[in-house]
Amino acid sequence: MVTVKVDLEKCDGDAVCVSICPTSVFELKNDKAVVVREQDCILCMACVAQCAKQAIEVKE
Ligand code: SF4
Repeated sequence: MVTVKVDLEKCDGDAVCVSICPTSVFELKNDKAVVVREQDCILCMACVAQCAKQAIEVKE
């Protein structure tokens, strides 16, 4: 089972993960990225690689 977590203290709401995730795991709510479709994650790690704040953790 995949877990996707966003550290909301680090997240600056630039929404790069929202744009880059191929399966729309994230949505922007109140200027923070929130995980809304964790089960759809395909472990591509694009969000982890592109988050400037290193706020995202993805684990299998
Ligand atoms: S690892 Fe890939 S599929 Fe999973 S949440 Fe990040 S960008 Fe989306």
